[in-house]
Amino acid sequence: MIKVFNLDKKFGDLHVLKGINEHIKKGEVVVIIGPSGSGKSTFLRCLNLLEEPTGGEILFEGVSITDNNKDINKLRQKMGMVFQDFNLFPHMTVLENITLAPIKVKKMQKEEAEKIAFDLLERVGLKDKAFSYPKQLSGGQKQRIAIARALAMSPDVMLFDEPTSALDPEMVGEVLEVMKDLVAEGMTMVVVTHEMGFAREVATRVLFMDKGQVIEQGCPKKIFNNPEHSRTKEFLAKIL
Ligand code: ADP
Ligand code: MG
Repeated sequence: MIKVFNLDKKFGDLHVLKGINEHIKKGEVVVIIGPSGSGKSTFLRCLNLLEEPTGGEILFEGVSITDNNKDINKLRQKMGMVFQDFNLFPHMTVLENITLAPIKVKKMQKEEAEKIAFDLLERVGLKDKAFSYPKQLSGGQKQRIAIARALAMSPDVMLFDEPTSALDPEMVGEVLEVMKDLVAEGMTMVVVTHEMGFAREVATRVLFMDKGQVIEQGCPKKIFNNPEHSRTKEFLAKIL
């Protein structure tokens, strides 16, 4: 689904991604772990061109997205993204948040978009919040709405950047449950997270990033029980 060749990203003199090569297959759940500042967010943001790579190539479903005549909007429709801080539109109701892109970008009829939105709200357990505003919701609820909003575009892959890091501990579980449901449905997912329980349970592969490179990767068992690199060991010793 996604092939990354020699991906490089610099912010001025700061070399943030240093030649990343990665293939993500349909149906995979790839969890990315690593210290703060190692380039995890930048890597995710390059995948949907929220950041423009400085070098290398990315293929999405067989098509290069890093050449010049790419259609960024079309690409973003197929890649849902969920951020740490939700990024809901504060002046819109939950229903409007979810239906905005399908109506504006996909030119969907309002009735159809709302029908899909209610189905998604049902899935994330928040049907009764359709006419609430984001400020009336808890963090966990906001994040479940953000997930529903991303799903409303029927993406082929979902990118999550620390989706539970801004939540009070008691709300982490409800968001992870929604994400696990997605896994069960076969969604292709790339997830940056510090939730090692989630990684152990559902990741098909764990990537350990440090200083702009994928230092080590493998199934969760291997990475967590038998890490090879000293930097992976050090990192895991700090967080586990
Ligand atoms: P992580 O998500 O692993 O914590 P990031 O990808 O956010 O790491 O950041 C990697 C490095 O790139 C950090 O040193 C960060 O300060 C820097 N960085 C990220 N975004 C920008 C930006 N827009 N401009 C300049 N530097 C940035
Ligand atoms: Mg980050």
